[in-house]
Amino acid sequence: MGISHRHQVIVVGAGLSGLRAALEAKKEGLDVAVLSRVQPVRSHSIAAQGGINASLANAEGGHDDNWEKHAFDTVKGSDYLADQDAVEIMTKEAPGIVYEMEHWGCPFSRTKEGLIAQRPFGGAAFPRTCYASDITGHALLHTMYERSVKENIKVYEEYLLLSIVKDANACVGIVALEVATGELVTIEADAVIMATGGYGRIYNKSTNALINTGSGMAAVYMTAGVPLKDLEFVQFHPTSLYGTNILITEGARGEGGYLYNCKGERFMKTYAAKAMELAPRDIVARSIQTEINEGRGYDNEYVLLDLRHLGREKIMERLPGIRDICIHFAGIDPIDSPIPIQPGQHYSMGGIDTDPKGATSLPGLYAAGEVACVSVHGGNRLGGNSLLDTIVFGKLSGRFASEYVKTKKKSGQGQALSLHLQKIKDNIHRLENSTGKEKPTDVRNQLKETMTENAGIFRQKSKLQTGLAKVKELKERYKNIHISNKGKKFNLDLVRNLELEGKLELAEVIVAGALNREESRGSHFRTDFPERNDEKWLKHTIASFVNGAVKIDHKPVTITQFKPQARTY
Ligand SMILES: Cc1cc2nc3c(=O)[nH]c(=O)nc-3n(C[C@H](O)[C@H](O)[C@H](O)COP(=O)(O)OP(=O)(O)OC[C@H]3O[C@@H](n4cnc5c(N)ncnc54)[C@H](O)[C@@H]3O)c2cc1C
Repeated sequence: MGISHRHQVIVVGAGLSGLRAALEAKKEGLDVAVLSRVQPVRSHSIAAQGGINASLANAEGGHDDNWEKHAFDTVKGSDYLADQDAVEIMTKEAPGIVYEMEHWGCPFSRTKEGLIAQRPFGGAAFPRTCYASDITGHALLHTMYERSVKENIKVYEEYLLLSIVKDANACVGIVALEVATGELVTIEADAVIMATGGYGRIYNKSTNALINTGSGMAAVYMTAGVPLKDLEFVQFHPTSLYGTNILITEGARGEGGYLYNCKGERFMKTYAAKAMELAPRDIVARSIQTEINEGRGYDNEYVLLDLRHLGREKIMERLPGIRDICIHFAGIDPIDSPIPIQPGQHYSMGGIDTDPKGATSLPGLYAAGEVACVSVHGGNRLGGNSLLDTIVFGKLSGRFASEYVKTKKKSGQGQALSLHLQKIKDNIHRLENSTGKEKPTDVRNQLKETMTENAGIFRQKSKLQTGLAKVKELKERYKNIHISNKGKKFNLDLVRNLELEGKLELAEVIVAGALNREESRGSHFRTDFPERNDEKWLKHTIASFVNGAVKIDHKPVTITQFKPQARTY
């Protein structure tokens, strides 16, 4: 049957959520391994800049903070679509999680008193974002990785998950491609935890790493029979560097940066008079795009983020990475010049439908981090809440998956795995031997263009219909793609084309969900339905893969203490 391995728990993804899940399963005494398409510290978590939220109440002006205020800001930020029971768990766990990372050695920046420093972030009533200069993800992921080395966690590096395998009642393992050799590998497991991050690269202006193709999310949707939740909610970060769309952290505004249009106006006063530049991301991104669309941007493409008044010392101490990025990728020094920025795709609020334990509808399959939708971010995520989400729900999914494994009855699993392996072999064989004339790069580029054009910051029925028709056309064209590289070793041509199929399916879910949701909420803004409509739409979108196409249902939102109210800043 080819190469096969067995572990009690296999975690797919080695970013913050995956490594944290693996550490928890190890602590529970299980045989756990991690599988990742890249070396762990190359996961996108490494790129996080601004910080991680927890109501430590350390910062000046933040002493009255507590978990309930953090929960309220998160729910309001989500435009009331977040499940409030899950938000309560996350915000209560937050201080403990940050202190644990500190005790494991994470070099957080400090206050004068030596406490963990916190900066203001968008949509937060208090300075709540703990940071390590502007490389918080780097500091956290290296700390987490060192911990996993110390605990001897096995990592299958440079393996691409292709499929989830299930028998009649439960998830029984995975099939993956060992990229170095081109061999297919089965890994039998009593529980699988998905921690494969976001799909930013479906869009053409994205802050995400090139590896963020959503292949894990797509594999679950297409092969596990598990639905995706709220995928129409796509976060566009207000400030990505014009030209490359590299992220310029919200911390730049948290430290006091201003946004200017070409008339020299701090235009946020029109859109969020109180919060100004520190309104939540959906609002700031729409405001910038409106300025550009109405002719008050530069070259109809960008506006300016000005840090000059912060002074050299503060920029060098708090935002040195941002300064480097500006110097190397835009040829400007933010100490002397404002930064040209435009919104860019950044984050997926939606994902694999899980409960607060990380469990999906398939017994034995769990998910955590950006690939999952618990849902704690609802219609719009607050900056600093994703790093928190990854560690809190990484840990919980590790714990509850372990609990499941300990009580599970064992079943014969080998047959399901070998049958499945054969299906995948046949699929790859078909791709490699296709005589189709379609160039994969054309399909990929047209997909990105159509998503940015038709399912971007502002949406409307006719554009979404155009987008959906285009995605369906591209799905047809994908059947005729042709792969030129037939080699086995490090065949990235094959990898990219296997992933393209999943990208097309995720795109269909995003566009169909956006077309279906006839209201505006959080990041989903319909110019033809500009108001939030709680009566009809205070519910989650649940998208299932049925006969090769998306089928949409709904599910209620859990509301505990915060009744929906108008969202003003
Ligand atoms: C530039 C940038 C800055 C950010 N800054 C912040 C911030 O300051 N604060 C904040 O809260 N959030 C921030 N975010 C968001 C946050 O960093 C991410 O949402 C989070 O780190 C995702 O972590 P994760 O563990 O879910 O996935 P990732 O860190 O993306 O890891 C995914 C893992 O899955 C593996 N993988 C994926 N697909 C496959 C497959 N098919 N087979 C095998 N392995 C696979 C990858 O190898 C990788 O190990 C930022 C995001 C970006 C892009």
